[in-house]
Amino acid sequence: MNEVKQQVFRLVCQQCTEQGATPERIHDLGGVATLAFCSPFYDGNGRRHQHDTNRLTYDFRCSNGHQFSQMIPHTCWCGWVQEI
Ligand SMILES: [Zn+2]
Ligand SMILES: [Zn+2]
Repeated sequence: MNEVKQQVFRLVCQQCTEQGATPERIHDLGGVATLAFCSPFYDGNGRRHQHDTNRLTYDFRCSNGHQFSQMIPHTCWCGWVQEI
């Protein structure tokens, strides 16, 4: 079993961070993805993986009224996280 580097992606509002504030919520306003086809595959144990390398950019608005765009990495159940 290969060791998988576990990363946890956390979405933060940069403007709140600069002000030392924490927004109560960050709303997802929808996103756009690049359209490279990335086919899923099955590992030797027959488990399905999808390591999608399309770039997904979402717009967000935090509860303090800041709006920003952020690239969101794709993840797979195995612990794979897209590098962004
Ligand atoms: Zn904010
Ligand atoms: Zn995987």
